[in-house]
This record gives sequence, C-alpha cells and structure tokens, in this order.
Amino acid sequence: METLKRTKIKALLASEPGVEVLAKGWVRTKRGNKQVKFIALNDGSTINNIQIVANTELFDEELLKRITTGASLSVKGQLVASMGSGQAVEIQATEMEVLGDCDPMRFPLQKKDTTLEYLRSVAHMRLRTNTFGAVLRIRNAMAFAIHKFFNEKGFVYLHTPLITESDAEGAGDMFQVTTLDLKNIPLDKKGNVDFSRDFFGKKTSLTVSGQLEGELGATAVGEIYTFGPTFRAENSNTPRHLAEFWMIEPEMAFYDLQDNMDLKFLNDKYDDGLIERMQGVLGIPFQKVTYTEAVEILEKAIADGVKFEYPVHWGTDFQSEHERYLVEKHFGKPVILIDFPKDIKAFYMKQNEDGRTVRGMDVLFPKIGEIIGGSEREASLEKLEKRIEELGMSRKNLEWYIDTRRYGSVPHSGFGLGFERLLLFVTGMANIRDVIPFPRTPKNAEF
Ligand code: ATP
Ligand code: MN
Repeated sequence: METLKRTKIKALLASEPGVEVLAKGWVRTKRGNKQVKFIALNDGSTINNIQIVANTELFDEELLKRITTGASLSVKGQLVASMGSGQAVEIQATEMEVLGDCDPMRFPLQKKDTTLEYLRSVAHMRLRTNTFGAVLRIRNAMAFAIHKFFNEKGFVYLHTPLITESDAEGAGDMFQVTTLDLKNIPLDKKGNVDFSRDFFGKKTSLTVSGQLEGELGATAVGEIYTFGPTFRAENSNTPRHLAEFWMIEPEMAFYDLQDNMDLKFLNDKYDDGLIERMQGVLGIPFQKVTYTEAVEILEKAIADGVKFEYPVHWGTDFQSEHERYLVEKHFGKPVILIDFPKDIKAFYMKQNEDGRTVRGMDVLFPKIGEIIGGSEREASLEKLEKRIEELGMSRKNLEWYIDTRRYGSVPHSGFGLGFERLLLFVTGMANIRDVIPFPRTPKNAEF
C-alpha cells in the first residue's frame, strides 16, 4: 500500500476521477448494508469528508467491524465519479488498513451528545468536530491576518515578557510566579515573605499586558505591536473572560488619541445574525461618545424604565449590560467611548485639562461589549510622577518606565485588542471558552 503516495483529502476532492489513490484519515461515520459500506473519512486538510465505498465481499468482516467512528484508517482505491449527491468523487476501496482502533463505547464524541458545554469537558477531542475544526481554522486565519496587517503597515512585532515584576497595571489580579516552597515559605525579620530568596530575587507575576514594555519599543522604533498571551487572575466567570487570553497591543509614537482611533483594524448554525452584524461593523463609522455623555444616556434610559442589574452614575465603570445597551439599543452601531474618569483607569493614561478625566478609549461591539481598551499615554514626566504618587504605587519597579518620559518623551498612544473577543465577533460563538482550544478559567486548567 505504501508504494503509492498519500494524497490529502482536500486535494482528492478537487481531483479528476480515474486514478488510483491512497488516503488516510479518521472515520467520521460508517453506514451501509450487507453488500456495501459507506465510510466518511476526514484527515483535517479540509472540513469536508471523502466518501469511501467498500464492497463487503472484498474485505474481512473483522476488519470492517474495526472501522468505527474515530478510528484511523488507510485506504487505497480508485477515485471514481460519485453516484451519490453531495460529492463529486469518492474512493472505491481495494485495500484498507485500520491504523488505530477506536473503542466506540468509550469514544467521547458520540452523535447524541454534542452540546458546546459537553464538548468543553472533552476539549482534548473537540477539535475533531466540525464546529471546533472551523473555529480553529478561523483563529489561525485571523492570527495570520493580524500579523500581515501590522507588517504591511510597518509595525515591528515586539516580544514582551510574560514574567514581570511590575504589578502596576491595575488591569486585574495577577498570578504569582514563584519557586519558593509553599510548605516552608521564608520570612524576613518583619514576618513578610522574603522574596529575595525567590527565583528572581523579587516578587514576580505573569503579565496582564505587554503595554509598558511595548511603550519602550514604540519610543525607539516608532510603531510596534505585541501579540501574545496575557494572564488575569480575576474571578470573572463570564462568557467574555478567560484567565489566559491572547492580546494584540499596538503602541505608536507620535500618535494622539485621534490617530489611535483612526487606526483601522479590522451565518452559521449558532448565530444567523452574524453576517449582518459583521457588515454592520465594517461598513459604517463607529459612534464616538464621551463617558460623561454615555452616563447621561444610560441615566435617561433608566428614567424611561430600562432595568439594569448594576447601578450607573458618574464615576462607575460600565458593566457589559450598559455597554451593550449603548451599542445595540441606543446607537445601533459600534461605539468608541472616550474621556473616562481617571479613577477607573490606569495610571499611565493622559490626563485631560478638566483634572478629572483621562484620554482613554474603549471600543464596544454588539453582543460582546468591550473589545478594545486603549488610550493616549501621559507624556508629561511631572504629571505621570504625580499620578503614581497619588495612587500610592511603588515607584521602585517603575523607574525604567518613567525613563521614557525623562529621555525624549513624545506623545504616544496604543490599545489592547482581545484576540478571543475578536474571535467571538468573527465566529458568532457566544462563549469565549469556545474560541480558544484549551480555555483556562477559574477552577479549570485541564488539558
Ligand atoms: P473588561 O472590562 O471586559 O474586563 P478590561 O477593561 O479589563 O476588560 P483591558 O484591561 O482594557 O480590559 O484589556 C484590553 C482588552 O483585552 C479588552 O478590551 C478585552 O478585549 C481583552 N480582555 C480583557 N480582559 C480579558 C479577559 N479576562 N479575557 C479575555 N479577554 C480580555
Ligand atoms: Mn477586566
């Protein structure tokens, strides 16, 4: 059998009939009768299967029994025009070999139980389903498109560290990184953990964002982007939060908030409004609105009888229900919120003249809420130092960052785009756990 070279199913399905071929793959289904078996074979090269037609007279009964859903199979035969509908060609099998058996009693992907919730519990196998095969391919295509986009714009892809000693972002709780023996933690004279004995000689964590280092890159080569994993130990059991997610963070020197907003980025069985929603986003300019105006809109909505679970008043951070009201009900298009109260945003955002708001910028999308968080950064050394002091942050670990304002400070801006939130939008999936192959959420780090 091996003298013939294997052809991928994607290529076979596009081939002219009349040749002898060798295909390998996993059995999706087997049906038929005493005379003939029809086997749907998939090798991952395409979401489509090729049909194998096996005349039972040519094959051992034992072999045919072993051809079950999930088993891997090598098939030699004649590529012929298909008589059935649904495919142009099929393989008339002459030789078959089971490469790996699959116990049909134990195989976790049974026809009957394929809810997305169930599939999460078998995430090691769910990539073999059509749904996750499609998500995985879209994820791959999107990652490639993002790199291509920034590459063509002249941005430098900067690799920022995952382990960091700065806990200053305020973006969320951090996962600590340590090699200390948790059963025997060294303490200093005051009874605090003695991190000088830890691996890095300091308290370290997994990063919540590559931005601070990204700014170092932008103030050297002009325009950079990061694209890597970020970690947040926030106990948010929502359909939009992961403990480990991927973020794209462009950072641009000589960009103010307006330039930042102008940087243009980018129906299936789960969501038939998908195409319409995508066209809604791609075709029209986003609605720009200040935080203060948005509060007024929401307060008016409440006065008119709209019910929210969480209260709204000037100074609170919006919940996703508020964000979605603005996008889906009030404006009916994506919204760019700007000029937030400084107390709900990070220390590095550029302070407005009013003394109480900062040049932040969140982009809100239909069904998802916040998809991008960004800002113009505070370029003034004096203002930045004052803010760090006001917030009672430790300067010690931040001197390197403050140096960007000390040595040739420039106006600059950037944002973070959550890759999985973008994928929610593009795929139409409803839960963020279903757009990453192996989701990490509170109490879940399996696989
Ligand atoms: P949220 O209010 O939704 O928790 P955030 O304000 O914490 O978001 P940022 O710190 O601005 O978000 O992060 C930038 C982007 O990263 C967000 O706009 C979002 O797309 C994404 N993001 C943030 N936290 C998570 C998370 N836990 N899981 C997945 N994506 C996230
Ligand atoms: Mn958050």
